[in-house]
Amino acid sequence: MRQKTIKEPESLYGIALHSGQNCKLSFLPAAENTGIVFKVGEITVPAQIGLVSSTIRGTTIEKDRQEVQLVEHILAACYGLGIDNLRIELSADEPPAADGSALPFVKVLKKAEVVEQDAEKKVFAVKNELKVESKEASIIALPYHGFKVSFMVDFPKIGEQFLEIEIKENTFVKELAPARTFGYLSEVEALKEQGLAKGASLDNALAIDENGYVNEPRFEDELVRHKILDVIGDLALLGGRIQAFIKCEKSGHALNIALAKKIAESL
Ligand SMILES: [Zn+2]
Repeated sequence: MRQKTIKEPESLYGIALHSGQNCKLSFLPAAENTGIVFKVGEITVPAQIGLVSSTIRGTTIEKDRQEVQLVEHILAACYGLGIDNLRIELSADEPPAADGSALPFVKVLKKAEVVEQDAEKKVFAVKNELKVESKEASIIALPYHGFKVSFMVDFPKIGEQFLEIEIKENTFVKELAPARTFGYLSEVEALKEQGLAKGASLDNALAIDENGYVNEPRFEDELVRHKILDVIGDLALLGGRIQAFIKCEKSGHALNIALAKKIAESL
């Protein structure tokens, strides 16, 4: 399989989820073997696993004291469309939340036209079982001929959701990309006091209260679908195609990143 980039530059504008700031995001073509790189002002921050600086309520990468927050939904969109090389210019250090899912990024990237390059894609094939766990959560990578993810979640007021899905472009775009970030209304005030979720609204998140979903879910199991989207975005920081079966139970960004590091070390 050959590497891919986009043909034409395309932009989108919007409010960032945590900072609440307006941000312009531009996708630009990049040469073979560039990888995905973010650029804020003069500083380039490559989307690399070794540059992760925080996994609290999203994945943040940082280089030369320039942070880029909440990169996972954009990286998932790139991975899902098979894009290897891309320059992403931002007017602020957190990209637009868009609608809380990866779908708006998918649409803009498709509009920019995904094109093949000459170099071969890098492949990260898991050879042996790799596992990371914390108290109640775990994530395991097993050898597999393709890329498959299963996920079990159990959230208050919603209950258990489980999904196992083969990750291909069509399944990604239809089944995972539209699944939005979610949050509990009861937590919003506390998050805002920590300087998080300042831009959160019913336009960019699926909200949950004591009665369940507040706004209309796009899928009855939207939460587990979004969790799988996050796994794809976080593992995309490896910078290549993943060959593995990833089994997740109640895990989040911290374990995703820990697993990605283990995969990188194992090869
Ligand atoms: Zn997410």
